[in-house]
Amino acid sequence: MRNKEIFEESKKYMPGGVNSPVRAYGDLNIDPPIIKSGEASHIFDEDGKEYIDFVEAWGPMILGHKNEDILNSVREVLEKGVGFGAPTELELRLAKYICSTVDNVDMIRMVNSGTEATMSAVKLARGYTGRDKIIKFAGCYHGHFDGFLVEAGSGVLTQNIPGSPGVPKGSIENTLIAEYNNIESVEALFNKHKDEIAAVIIEPVAGNMGVIPAAKEFLVKLREVCTKNKTILIFDEVMSGFRVAYKGAQSIYGVKPDLTTFAKIMGGGFPSGAYGGRREIMEQLSPLGPVYQAGTMSGNPVVMAAGYASLKKLHENPKYYSHMDKLGSLLEDGILEISKEKGIDLVVNRCVNMMTVFFTKLSEVKSYSNAKASDTKMFSRFAEHMIRNGVYVPPSQFEAMFLGVKHTEDDIEKFLSVMRKL
Ligand SMILES: *Cc1c(COP(=O)(O)O)cnc(C)c1O
Repeated sequence: MRNKEIFEESKKYMPGGVNSPVRAYGDLNIDPPIIKSGEASHIFDEDGKEYIDFVEAWGPMILGHKNEDILNSVREVLEKGVGFGAPTELELRLAKYICSTVDNVDMIRMVNSGTEATMSAVKLARGYTGRDKIIKFAGCYHGHFDGFLVEAGSGVLTQNIPGSPGVPKGSIENTLIAEYNNIESVEALFNKHKDEIAAVIIEPVAGNMGVIPAAKEFLVKLREVCTKNKTILIFDEVMSGFRVAYKGAQSIYGVKPDLTTFAKIMGGGFPSGAYGGRREIMEQLSPLGPVYQAGTMSGNPVVMAAGYASLKKLHENPKYYSHMDKLGSLLEDGILEISKEKGIDLVVNRCVNMMTVFFTKLSEVKSYSNAKASDTKMFSRFAEHMIRNGVYVPPSQFEAMFLGVKHTEDDIEKFLSVMRKL
């Protein structure tokens, strides 16, 4: 079947034809290509068309498609059996590797997705502190757990309105919303809810309202405020972990969270997730402690093997990160040049290999309200043009574009030459 036929038929059997909403290209006037295969930094659709992949499965495929080390380690597991629901040495190998190569993780618990990691980390923080409220930031995404699905309207600090039907008001009454990069908005919540806040959860480099890196002094102050109030600071590094640096965004900022969540890259392309942090907090988890969290598929051997192969490769090759940063800077400079040449108003936000082009007249984009002020129609025109011409970029203004180890200067030049024809 060809792209069009597969997508049309998929709509009969899966809502919107997809298993995750953004894939349906709701904001674009084109249908999503149906992807058949991938090779390094390129992917191919069912019509035989080739694309340079700047989505990387939304982050995980940093090593490119069909990485030999990952494939070989998975093949080995397949020969022995793919799941036992029992302790395995592969779990130990990955857990030990993460705890010893990443900072601020004394112990870790494996789960199956980023959503599971963040919701479990919040539960653990609540169990540990005996408090109920959490603070999240407007525009940050931590998965589809009810407690995180809060639309922060223009009155960011006032009423909580569920961001989705199906979320009872009760599930979010303990979710407080602060403004990204605005420490006063955090302090105001702590003043109002003294001794009630279990955790603050944040993407230290936001990627889900488009890329917005936190300001360093904001994260430093956030750490101070959490320490002073005995509140658990959770860095959601599901996207940024092993990406902006092997040791994540926290290593770039030099700020220590109490708990960190991972997913995406840590599974080498397989469904994965994990949360970890300070030993005394992690020891509150069942079976050691009273906080209950479990998973039939957690620590699955295939995932553990793929994750280990992936992280080992990244950890042993620091040059990968300088390569991605160099390409990122080439791409950023090129886009800014095109914007001048063509008189297009835009801002490029980038952290190493995570990047978003905001079509906006603003001179910088530092918060959710800045991001929301972007010209999303212009973004859609841009994304459609790029994808039609073989450059696979995210179909929404509020997503991150990724560079990977396998991207080349040629890939960047192709991106720029296509964009020049916008
Ligand atoms: C992708 C993402 C999640 C959700 O992970 P899933 O595996 O899709 O459940 C949570 N937090 C951040 C920062 C993410 O980028």
